[in-house]
Amino acid sequence: MKNRIAIIGAGYTGLSCAKKLIENNYNVTIYESTDEIGGIAKCIDYNETKLEKHYRHIFKSDKFVIDMIKEFDLIDKLHWNETKMAYYDKEEGLYAFGTPYTLLKYKPLTFIQKLLFGISVIKIKIIKNYKKIDNYTAEEWIKKNCGEKVYKKIWEPLLITKFGEYKDKISMSWLWGKINLRSSSSTLEGEKLGYLEGSFDILTRKLGEFLIKNDCKIELNNCVKKVYKSKMGYIVETENNKEEFDYIINTTAYDISKDIFEELLTKEEKEKMQKMKYTSARTMMIFSKKSLTPYYWINIGDRNIPFGGIIEHTNMENKENYNNTNIIYISNYMYKSDRLYNLNENKLFDEYLPFLQKINRNFVKEDVIKIECFSEMYAQPIIKKRI
Ligand SMILES: Cc1cc2nc3c(=O)[nH]c(=O)nc-3n(C[C@H](O)[C@H](O)[C@H](O)COP(=O)(O)OP(=O)(O)OC[C@H]3O[C@@H](n4cnc5c(N)ncnc54)[C@H](O)[C@@H]3O)c2cc1C
Repeated sequence: MKNRIAIIGAGYTGLSCAKKLIENNYNVTIYESTDEIGGIAKCIDYNETKLEKHYRHIFKSDKFVIDMIKEFDLIDKLHWNETKMAYYDKEEGLYAFGTPYTLLKYKPLTFIQKLLFGISVIKIKIIKNYKKIDNYTAEEWIKKNCGEKVYKKIWEPLLITKFGEYKDKISMSWLWGKINLRSSSSTLEGEKLGYLEGSFDILTRKLGEFLIKNDCKIELNNCVKKVYKSKMGYIVETENNKEEFDYIINTTAYDISKDIFEELLTKEEKEKMQKMKYTSARTMMIFSKKSLTPYYWINIGDRNIPFGGIIEHTNMENKENYNNTNIIYISNYMYKSDRLYNLNENKLFDEYLPFLQKINRNFVKEDVIKIECFSEMYAQPIIKKRI
């Protein structure tokens, strides 16, 4: 008899895990609380095509997803596009960034500081085992290797953007992972990023079809409430039913898991889970008649600007695919209690507009066809330094 396994959550972790288990002959049921699979990577309809709710691209090092794309015969849909990156500095405004050449032209740092910055990126790439830097915070490691000014000018604004008040607690191993992932796609001219023509939805659908065809049960709109021990294994109690399984795989955030598994966890485990904090994300999609900038990715290093990044999707993927509309994502990581997280989307746009015009003064409201906002409560776990 096959082992029966329940997976909680039909985001990419749950779906890819189900695929592996099915291939190894397990009997799998996925429980998903919403009406769709895909989780954070879900897409929306736009004209004849689809678009991610939150910006999305593939790095050259994303081996698993690239293998899956090949396996589902979608490789001809995967485009590798040259993209440009920039940095918005409080004093100096918008700067091309991300290549050795643009670094040399970057005014806010002296030549020595640029050199230290360049060397530190090389050092990070050389480190193969993150454990070597796991006992440093990103702040400690950067200050030690590049000095105060490089930290303050480049890294601190980015850490604040993603983690706010926890900026000085973040483990260097988190930054190490980010830089290594990104540098796999770096070229001397910029970055080469992958995008699936027709959106990630084409992969999600293929994955869903594969699972269903191979007898995986996907229970949508069926939120898991509790998991507890039974004689033979575990009972999964949902909004709609109760079922017994041999094993459970959980892919939800700790905040949710600690309640689901309450009866199975020790006091210490619960406390550990309670300590894990997340930042939330609110992404605004602006559908515009005009482009905002020539860059795909802009990191905002000016804390007076109330968002952390601008990702102009149509500077990566051809806008002809979207009826010549420019698709601009405004990225903002914050806490769910923040005022901007709870503001209605038109008001949020009105707050953002003067800052978008600071970046491009010709950008006007009349060019905006429509806006949409999407929120994720558990977008980024706060990875603190190991003590
Ligand atoms: C703004 C943003 C941009 C990103 N861009 C990229 C990118 O370009 N490239 C990249 O590789 N990654 C990107 N990521 C990261 C990536 O999207 C996530 O790491 C990944 O999608 C997480 O998948 P997951 O399955 O672990 O979690 P999720 O996608 O969160 O899935 C968890 C699922 O569990 C379900 N669930 C929750 N509670 C229950 C319950 N009680 N019962 C049943 N189901 C439940 C949820 O509805 C959800 O579907 C981005 C993330 C964000 C926030």
